[in-house]
Amino acid sequence: MKSTMTNANPDLARILVTREAIQTRVGEIARQIDHDYRDAGRLLVVGILRGAFIFTADLTRQLAIPHIVDFMALTTYGKRTTVGEVRVVMDLREPIENEHVLLVEDIVDGGHTLSYLQRLLADRNPASLRTCVMVRKVRENALARIDYLGFEIPDAWVVGYGLDYADRYRTLPFIAELKPEVYRK
Ligand code: 5GP
Repeated sequence: MKSTMTNANPDLARILVTREAIQTRVGEIARQIDHDYRDAGRLLVVGILRGAFIFTADLTRQLAIPHIVDFMALTTYGKRTTVGEVRVVMDLREPIENEHVLLVEDIVDGGHTLSYLQRLLADRNPASLRTCVMVRKVRENALARIDYLGFEIPDAWVVGYGLDYADRYRTLPFIAELKPEVYRK
């Protein structure tokens, strides 16, 4: 099954996280969040566009606790994975003061994007702020704090389950490593 899928797309080196593993882990995280926020009243889930839209949709549909969903969109200028400048291109619709906020991100590499977001939202005085991330690249000194993590992956460019390369591969149902020759072209 796996090899058929990667063979079907010659740009992919290998599948790192299968569709089944993702769905199982999303369910586990949702149950943990249900438990942790059982007395919170209402949770505001903030998905970060575009990469986290699939993860946010899957996760929130598994939540049993009361919650609402909103999105922010970011763009990064400059070299990715270094201290590129992060900018908000679409902000939240409502203030988050006194809300329990759960930030949902697709991927953390060096952690600059996430720590920027955490600072930005913390300054708006939410009742609480936690972070849920689908995949994190294994690194020595990552910056940002993560409360719920799907998977740790090796340091390679990955696509699928919301993650793209040049706007491609975003809707693959699994997370796969792109062949280095594709992104080093
Ligand atoms: P950080 O700020 O943590 O170094 O980088 C995080 C951002 O870089 C992510 O939000 C994502 O946009 C992008 N990124 C880093 N690694 C990858 C990757 O392997 N695949 C994709 N599609 N995006 C990545």
